Amino acid sequence: MEKFVKTYIDAFMAELVARNPGELEFHQAVGEVVGSVAPYLEANPYLINEKILERMSEPERTVIFRVPWMDDHGTIRINRGFRVQMNSALGPYKGGLRFHPSVNLSILKFLAFEQTFKNSLTTLPMGGAKGGSDFYPRGKSDGEVMRFCQSFMTELSRHIGADTDVPAGDIGVGGREIGYLFGQYKRLRDEFSGTLTGKGLAWGGSLLRPEATGYGVCYFAQEMLAGKNKSFEGQRVVISGAGNVAQYAAQKALRLGAKVLTLSDSDGYMYDPDGLDEEKMAYVFQLKNIRRGRISEYVQKFPKAQYFAGQRPWNVPCDIALPCATQNEIEKADAEALVKNGCYAVIEGANMPSTPDAIGIFQNAKLLYSPGKASNAGGVATSGLEMTQNSIRQHWTAEEVDTHLRRIMSDIHASCLKYGTNPDGYINYVRGANIAGFIKVAGAMLDQGLV
Ligand code: NDP
Repeated sequence: MEKFVKTYIDAFMAELVARNPGELEFHQAVGEVVGSVAPYLEANPYLINEKILERMSEPERTVIFRVPWMDDHGTIRINRGFRVQMNSALGPYKGGLRFHPSVNLSILKFLAFEQTFKNSLTTLPMGGAKGGSDFYPRGKSDGEVMRFCQSFMTELSRHIGADTDVPAGDIGVGGREIGYLFGQYKRLRDEFSGTLTGKGLAWGGSLLRPEATGYGVCYFAQEMLAGKNKSFEGQRVVISGAGNVAQYAAQKALRLGAKVLTLSDSDGYMYDPDGLDEEKMAYVFQLKNIRRGRISEYVQKFPKAQYFAGQRPWNVPCDIALPCATQNEIEKADAEALVKNGCYAVIEGANMPSTPDAIGIFQNAKLLYSPGKASNAGGVATSGLEMTQNSIRQHWTAEEVDTHLRRIMSDIHASCLKYGTNPDGYINYVRGANIAGFIKVAGAMLDQGLV
């Protein structure tokens, strides 16, 4: 790297850390992108004078608000709501809502920043945003979740709209929460529009949206594996999480012939030596989505499986790992265990599940490694397809949506190859995804002037 670029990047990161104190996840996400785009800045130094990184890393707007609600015992509860509208250069803000006690400004800024590049990669007209609350739906009744969602939307509705900002789900926000949020939005605004995605099929949702992130992860993985003349057939797959992304990644992987060995939640993981099958998947869907149970219950139903409390699944020998739970869930020692046990591909379903140290280990060992912003983009892409269907007031078949999803994942893979292939043939998917996403957003920002 030329010295002037190194000096600039060091100063930029120091300034970012000083301006955003304590926001470690945000520093991590920006640092990764900045490291990747350095060669592009070197070749295009005018972008430094244009302060494009400084502009991209400052949200266009951040809203933080009080969310008061009453629990089933009549006790008043107060949570904090957020919406980070990071970048609208490519289209209306778009990104999920997360309800989890860990939610804070740093996590939402990292997610909104990542979302901007991910949405750019999809080639669909969507800017980047993220929002949510420190509210924890776990253990709450349907009535409590509804009252919380209504209170949350009462404020959020002032800041979103079909052509302004279109939220979707994320951790803790699934079909039930989107329903309550949509209902309140409709009531407040007196309009039936596509302002949220992930809607129910009967009221504007898209076929395949629930499946899209997990399926997209597997479609992207297929492209990566094909480059090595491999496929999912007969491969041992370890998956973390047991939520939306994990469930459908597991279903698609097993349908493609893989042996899916694990699922997890924040309490531990289950290991099934025989692998999941359709009957076991049906049980998991029921357990997690209808009964809202814990993955520990799997071993009561299928006693050949084992449950490991308080542990992550990364010590289980596997060929392919699909982290689908949360950020920084693969640390250095986990990455070392995966490599040591023969894992040759890590394809991220979650956002930023691998720490920078873990990524370094994967790349040094020349694993097939893909960052979430590339491999999990199928979710937001299908949300984009839901927006299109809402706008033209049509409903596409599952086959039509699936065809679009496969094409988009294949195109994202091609973009990663274009900008990420090293002279020795190794594909650095992090660099590929970051540069491809960056070029388009930067170009659009420059076209639109200093706004
Ligand atoms: P869900 O809420 O449906 O599931 C999350 C799963 O991850 C649950 O099993 C949960 O366990 C587990 N989990 C959450 N936090 C932790 C933690 N701190 N430690 C261990 N396990 C944890 O969320 P999604 O499946 O929608 O999201 C999973 C990941 O995928 C997130 O990183 C999200 O940002 C990303 N993503 C989601 C998309 C979507 O369309 N839904 C699109 C693109 C990315 P528990 O029940 O114990 O909390």
